Amino acid sequence: MAEKTLNVFEIARTQVKNACDKLGADPAVYEILKNPMRVMEVSFPVKMDDGTTKSFTGYRAQHNNACGPFKGGIRFHPAVNIDEVKALSTWMTFKCGVVGIPYGGGKGGMAIDPRDYSKAELERISRGFAASIAPIIGEKEDIPAPDVNTNGQIMSWMLDEYSKVTGQFQPGVFTGKPVDFYGSLARTEATGYGVAKMAMLAAKKLNLDLDNITVALQGCGNVGSFAGTYIEEFGAKVVIVGDHTGTIRNNKGIDMKSLVEYVKIHGGIKGFSGAEPTEENVLTAEVDILMPCALENQLTSVTAKDVKAKFICEGANGPTTPEADKIFFEKGLTLVPDILANSGGVTVSYFEWVQNLMRYNWTFEEVQEKQEKLMNKAFEEIWDLAKEFNVDMRTAAYMMSIKRIADAMKIRGWYT
Ligand code: GLU
Repeated sequence: MAEKTLNVFEIARTQVKNACDKLGADPAVYEILKNPMRVMEVSFPVKMDDGTTKSFTGYRAQHNNACGPFKGGIRFHPAVNIDEVKALSTWMTFKCGVVGIPYGGGKGGMAIDPRDYSKAELERISRGFAASIAPIIGEKEDIPAPDVNTNGQIMSWMLDEYSKVTGQFQPGVFTGKPVDFYGSLARTEATGYGVAKMAMLAAKKLNLDLDNITVALQGCGNVGSFAGTYIEEFGAKVVIVGDHTGTIRNNKGIDMKSLVEYVKIHGGIKGFSGAEPTEENVLTAEVDILMPCALENQLTSVTAKDVKAKFICEGANGPTTPEADKIFFEKGLTLVPDILANSGGVTVSYFEWVQNLMRYNWTFEEVQEKQEKLMNKAFEEIWDLAKEFNVDMRTAAYMMSIKRIADAMKIRGWYT
């Protein structure tokens, strides 16, 4: 049956329900986890450069804080809506549970395209949003970070605004800050680095010829650019890349460093001289590894059947629908799920936060080493659990994470 609706929040709930069932969890666990604990919608005025005033709306969803403060990014994208933010906050709870860091899940967003605004306007929008959500965030309450179309500069404006509103300087209330302003070394690279590492671990488990690995990459933003660059450094060839501007191919391997530089200047991959434009669908290309590193709902019941990659490693949040998951599992196709594969971002956010709280400065190598250790451990555990229960890696990841969160909720007395 074709999937009628692709409401991401329903998808997130289905994933949680499937894992709760497999785990034989107390019904109270799903009952608690099926909804965010709090969702805030804010609207605030911003003065535009032309002198007019516009009202902007944003959201912050706080899914669960049984294991620690809510944690998760803020997204600026035209497709943002309240259900998407709720889904993304749900995924954050389980992502933090997968790596075992002391956080719950949260997410925020605004339905805007930052390219529509001047830098000064974007600063005022960011400040307005930070001031509006200030009553519910905090270094020990809820810690936002960058997500799609947001970055260290935006986090810095928000932190500055938060300090003004509250009268307190808490650098750890936002993570993903620039290194020169309480940020951590290795944070910008963290998500993509983790995706590439997880992909190589899976390739090894699947006995692929590590010297001749080919990759299809969807997305060349913060996650895709580093995932592609690192996997190339680990010896693989990125042969096809697709983004919102088009798709390009080079069978000899696309030079990722040059491509990333090109994208910084041109805003997309279209026109890059180191590859040929192609009409192919990057998701169904014949490669060893498919890395979807863009947005949700890319691999659906329609596209999943035609996927020819040997395995999938998800850099994006929620790129695969439950129907597609089923198809992959039946085909015997391994998928390293988002809440494991892209957990490097929040993992290094955690290290940034620890450094902020303690006023420490760790080296690049120290941070990356700590990241790798946590992620490798999670990978091995989830790989083994999937084999033991004969489930896909997504279900195994949820099972492991739900168990941790359920135990914390039980000890806290949230259910008996
Ligand atoms: N936005 C990233 C994610 O989806 C990072 C979140 C964080 O660092 O808190 O995992």
